[in-house]
Amino acid sequence: MSPLRVLPLADFVVGQPRATSALQRALEADRIFPSLVFHGPGGVGKLSTALLLARALLCQAQGERPCGACVSCRHIGERSLIHADVRLALPEKKSAFDRDSSGSEGPAGIDPQALQAEAVRNPVWSVLIDRLRQGIAFLQRSPSESPRRVLIVDQAHRMEAVAANALLKTLEEPPAHALLVLITSSWHALLPTIRSRCRAVPFQLVPRTHIVNYLVERREMAAEEAVLRAGLSGGRIGAGLDLDLEEFRRRRDALLSVLDELARHGDPGLAVARAEAIVQAGDSAEGDLEILMALLRDLMVLAASPAAEARLVNVDIAPGLRDLAACLEGRSGPALEDLETAIESIRQKGNRQLLVENFLIGLVPEVPGPPGVHARS
Ligand SMILES: [Zn+2]
Repeated sequence: MSPLRVLPLADFVVGQPRATSALQRALEADRIFPSLVFHGPGGVGKLSTALLLARALLCQAQGERPCGACVSCRHIGERSLIHADVRLALPEKKSAFDRDSSGSEGPAGIDPQALQAEAVRNPVWSVLIDRLRQGIAFLQRSPSESPRRVLIVDQAHRMEAVAANALLKTLEEPPAHALLVLITSSWHALLPTIRSRCRAVPFQLVPRTHIVNYLVERREMAAEEAVLRAGLSGGRIGAGLDLDLEEFRRRRDALLSVLDELARHGDPGLAVARAEAIVQAGDSAEGDLEILMALLRDLMVLAASPAAEARLVNVDIAPGLRDLAACLEGRSGPALEDLETAIESIRQKGNRQLLVENFLIGLVPEVPGPPGVHARS
């Protein structure tokens, strides 16, 4: 087969130079390994890249691919996958599968991003053995509209063990037209027998400046909003895009007033009470701690250099943060360390209340400041 002309994949995928250059080389040489594992953190574009790869492989254009205009390209969309030679399997609810499945080879005409979001929201769901059998049968049969067939298995570490074993035969003797892309946040959570038969394509957290540029240039977002979303995304473009800014600002205001209150005239008893309120908020507690972490990082930056606004995440409230940083007199640094320890321990199921208390108490001044002085209006 002759080499393919492929558009620069890095123009489509933000901040994944290792993954895109490896795929670019393989595509151009028309030597794509038949089974790939895209692994790396969630929300950095693995599913988007798998769909992009399918578009590039199946594009019908004579020139550079993926053209984005041919029938094939248009049928492999982020929000609409209706191509007859591309299938997506991912964790789903067993009862819904049993009810809906009519022995077909799996769903066509689906919204990949919505299905992925649903699978992430429901961690108890698995990639079902029956769905995977459909996918394997689909891969084995000849393509109907193009030279290749692509099966993408998202959240592949959530395959039932029998399902993973069912894949092995396909991995050992893949038909020439077949491409299997497994997507996972954890390379090591896959069975060794699977890992040894696949080629790894690593994805990474995206640098903040790349996300800002993407949001401003491609999504036409205002710079301030882009900086805020990128800063809070933790390097995951998906998280930055999904962030509900209104809800975020509401929670941030509430947490900021806790910090303000403690920094100015708090006492350890008040810190304990506030910690209890945060921890008992349940589902939102982890999100609140992430917001606190971003605020404390900003306070630390400002304590070191009050003019360093360009480096802030919460750039939209810089003046208020500068006042608070002055009031904290350097306590934000140690408090940030305590909070990082707390978040890490909470993830490992430590005593949330005690940990959050420790960190909030660290913000309290030695001698209570004058009451009622709020520099931040
Ligand atoms: Zn095309």
